[in-house]
Amino acid sequence: MDFNDQSIGNYNAKSNRYHELNYRKCGNSGLFLPPISIGLWHNFGHPDSFTNARQILRTAFDNGVTHFDLANNYGPPFGAAEETFGRLLEKDFRPYRDELIISTKAGYDMWAGPYGNFGSRKHLIASIDKSLKSMGLDYVDIFYHHRPDPNTPLEETMGALEQIVRQGKALYVGVSNYSAEQTKEAAQILKSMGIQLLIHQPRYNIFDRQVENGLLDELEVQGAGAIAFSPLAQGILTDKYLKGLPENSRAVKDGRYLNKTHITDEVLAKVKGLNEIAKERGQSLAQMAIAWLLKDERITSVLVGVSSPKQMLENVKAAEQISFTKTELKQIETILDS
Ligand code: NDP
Repeated sequence: MDFNDQSIGNYNAKSNRYHELNYRKCGNSGLFLPPISIGLWHNFGHPDSFTNARQILRTAFDNGVTHFDLANNYGPPFGAAEETFGRLLEKDFRPYRDELIISTKAGYDMWAGPYGNFGSRKHLIASIDKSLKSMGLDYVDIFYHHRPDPNTPLEETMGALEQIVRQGKALYVGVSNYSAEQTKEAAQILKSMGIQLLIHQPRYNIFDRQVENGLLDELEVQGAGAIAFSPLAQGILTDKYLKGLPENSRAVKDGRYLNKTHITDEVLAKVKGLNEIAKERGQSLAQMAIAWLLKDERITSVLVGVSSPKQMLENVKAAEQISFTKTELKQIETILDS
């Protein structure tokens, strides 16, 4: 990644950027999030183009996407996305800091040894300090515990989140990949310390609906919001794999988390059916997959990844049409059951 990119000029955000999106309240908090947020898991690492990364975030913000989501280990290598984001903040977004919701996380593998992952106070406190330094920030807006830790008492992990808020290093806290039961316990512990669980970040898309088995209900009880990750099943819920495996697609280019073994004939048959419904609605499949999540008001935001500004633009337009007829919903269920 070449940070000394001179190919695009200075950035002035579009003045009409707040005209299009309806911001959604995050649980019972006072914080509003855009219906579509952008994640930096892929496409912001060392092998990627800095210019492209820069144009992706500019396009996002110009279209009202105020929320950028990171984690300590996004890359590759681990930490690279935060470093890239730090450069982008310096070049383009510093004047807009107060208009942005920037999140990061700790919990997955980050550095060597027993303190480099999971949920000990040691890991979380060291990690937030590292993240703030990499990004050049005084505070993040949301700090998440990235995954449950079977070996650390939840009181310790939540205590670390509380400490981070009290120290002013994060404004709000969230959890990710926690079950409904773990979320309830976490929210209660935080509450006992005077902190509200702001948000949960689960995987949720048309093909993976586990959150419907209790988690979304629990979040409502706790007054917490939800932000759905991998809403396009990493790209499967688009029309891109219908005609084979494009060279520049995640399944071919990266292969760490998505590869051709996930894109079976059975999956493609469903994608084809869903694509037809999307066309009838006047949307692309990517747009319909995002809209399908936003039809539920409990979903505060849908967290997309994109490899180009064009995808960003397409995805953000999903918010223009988020209601579904009963017939459309039934047709989708029929395809999923087939
Ligand atoms: P998506 O399901 O949105 O997949 C993104 C990929 O889909 C893109 O990189 C692109 O792949 C393809 N794509 C996106 N839009 C289009 C389009 N309009 N047309 C065609 N293809 C498209 O999300 P991710 O899996 O990337 O996850 C999103 C974010 O969620 C992450 O960046 C991260 O912030 C968060 N996340 C959190 C996790 C957690 O444990 N908390 C785990 C995973 C993600 P291609 O390269 O093929 O073009």
